[in-house]
Amino acid sequence: MLLEQMRELRDQDGNWRQGRTWSLVYYADEAHYEFLKEAHNTFFSENGLNPMVFQSLKRMESEVVRMSAAMLHGDAQVVGTMTSGGTESILMAVKAARERFKKKRFIFNGQPELVAPKSIHVAFGKAAHYFGMKVRYVELGEDFRVNVEALKRAVNRNTALIAASAPQYAHGVIDPIEAIGAFAKKEDIPFHVDACFGGFFLPWMEKLGYDLPLFDFRVPGVTSISADVHKYGYAAKGASVVLYRDMSYLKHQFYVSTDWPGGIYPSPTVAGTRPGGPIAAAWAAMKAIGEEGYLELTRKTMEAVEALQTGVRRIEGLKVLGSTDGPVVCVASKSPEIDIYAVVDQLNAKGWNLDRQQNPNSFHLSVTANHLQAVPAFLEDLEEAVAHVRAHPELKSEGQAAMYGMIAKIPFRGAVKFSVHKIMEGMYGPEGKVPDLGGEAGEDDDLILQLMDKYGDRAMEVLEKFESSKEKLKEALPWMR
Ligand SMILES: *Cc1c(COP(=O)(O)O)cnc(C)c1O
Repeated sequence: MLLEQMRELRDQDGNWRQGRTWSLVYYADEAHYEFLKEAHNTFFSENGLNPMVFQSLKRMESEVVRMSAAMLHGDAQVVGTMTSGGTESILMAVKAARERFKKKRFIFNGQPELVAPKSIHVAFGKAAHYFGMKVRYVELGEDFRVNVEALKRAVNRNTALIAASAPQYAHGVIDPIEAIGAFAKKEDIPFHVDACFGGFFLPWMEKLGYDLPLFDFRVPGVTSISADVHKYGYAAKGASVVLYRDMSYLKHQFYVSTDWPGGIYPSPTVAGTRPGGPIAAAWAAMKAIGEEGYLELTRKTMEAVEALQTGVRRIEGLKVLGSTDGPVVCVASKSPEIDIYAVVDQLNAKGWNLDRQQNPNSFHLSVTANHLQAVPAFLEDLEEAVAHVRAHPELKSEGQAAMYGMIAKIPFRGAVKFSVHKIMEGMYGPEGKVPDLGGEAGEDDDLILQLMDKYGDRAMEVLEKFESSKEKLKEALPWMR
C-alpha cells in the first residue's frame, strides 16, 4: 500500500527513463538499472565507517580508486578515496589544499585563497564558504575557456589551490589544463582538475578517436582530480572519486580524533557513517560495463550530441554555445525575437525538463546514451517552441521566463540572494512548501515576485534606474523589508 503510494508520487516526477529529463539522472538501460539495484541492495546495511569490520567495502573502494586512477593515466603513486558525490570530492580537495597550505606557511595569518574560472562548479564556492577561504574568480575568454593570463594574475602568496574544469558543466568546454598545469608546477601551487562531469567520459572519447586536449595526470602540475562515478560511470547515486598525485596531498584530507570517549576515530571524508550501497554499486558498475561497455555508451552519447547540435543549428534563431568537448549541448538565442527562457517554458510544458542558465542566457542538455531515442522528438518540439515564441512575443514577460529573465539581469545580486533565501526558508519551513515560481505574488513573497507583480514588464526598468544606488532603491521600494 505505502509502496504503491510512493510509486504514484514518483510517476509525477521528471520522466528520465524516456530521456525527457536533460540532467540529474544518468541511465544506461533497464538491465543495467536492475543490476545496479541488486548490487546496491546487497550492501544496503553495511557501513564503510569501519573498514576492519567491513573489509569488503574497503576492498571495493580501493579497486574503484585504482581503476579510476588508471583510466585517468595516473601512475602507481596516485591515491584517493570515494565520496558521496562530486561536491564532497571537491570539498575534500579544497580542504586538503588548505591544510597543506597552512602547514607549509606556519606563520600565515591571512585567508587562504582559491583561484578558479567563473565557470567553475558551485561546489568550490561552497567549499570556500564552509572552510573560511576566499575564491578569486577569473574571467572566461570568448570560447568560454578560462583566460590563462588573467588566472596567472589572480594568483598571489595566499593562493592555496588553483582549479579548472574538464569540461565545465555550463558550456561543455575544457579549460586550458596544460597551460595552467605548467604555471602551477612552476609556482609550486596545487592544481585541481574538476572532471566530475567528464572524468568517466573524456577518456573513452579519446579512445574513440576524438581530438581532445590532455586534462588528466598526464599533465605535469595537475595534483588532484575529481570524477563522478554516479554520472558517466553509470553507477548508483552517491558515488564519486577524488584522486591525488601522491600521498603527500591526500594525507591532508584526513581527520583523526584521538581523545573522544567513543574511541580513536579516523575519518577519510566528510561522512561519518559511509553507506555501503553506493560503494558496492560503483564497483559493480565499473566491473560490469568495462572498457567495451563504456566505449559503446560514449559512442551512442556522441551520436546523440552530434544529432542535437546539427538539429539546433538548423533552427533559425538558435545557436550552440561552446559544447565542443564532451556530452554537453548548450543552446542560446541569436535573435532578439526569440527569448530562450520562453522557449524553455514551452518545452517544459510539453513534458521535457531543461535547465536554464545565465550569463549568457541559455539552456543546457547533459546528454547520455539513453537520450539518443529522444533526439528526434526533442528537435521537433524545439522547432515548434521557437516558432510559437516568435509568434507570441508577449511570452517572454509571462510565467517562469519573465521571472528567470529578470533574475538573470538584476544588477543587485544581493537582492537576488535575499529572494532565493526567502524561497528556501519557505521550502524548509514548517509547511515545507514547494515554491510556485512564476505564480502570482502573495503577501509574504520575496522582492523579485513583488517587483514583478507591481511593475510587470517595467520591473527591469525600475531596477536599472536605481542601479547606481542601493539606498535609492530601498527608498523607491517601500515594501522591501
Ligand atoms: C556534477 C558536477 C559537480 C558536483 O557533483 P555532485 O555529484 O552534483 O555533487 C561538480 N563539478 C562538475 C563539473 C559537475 O558536473
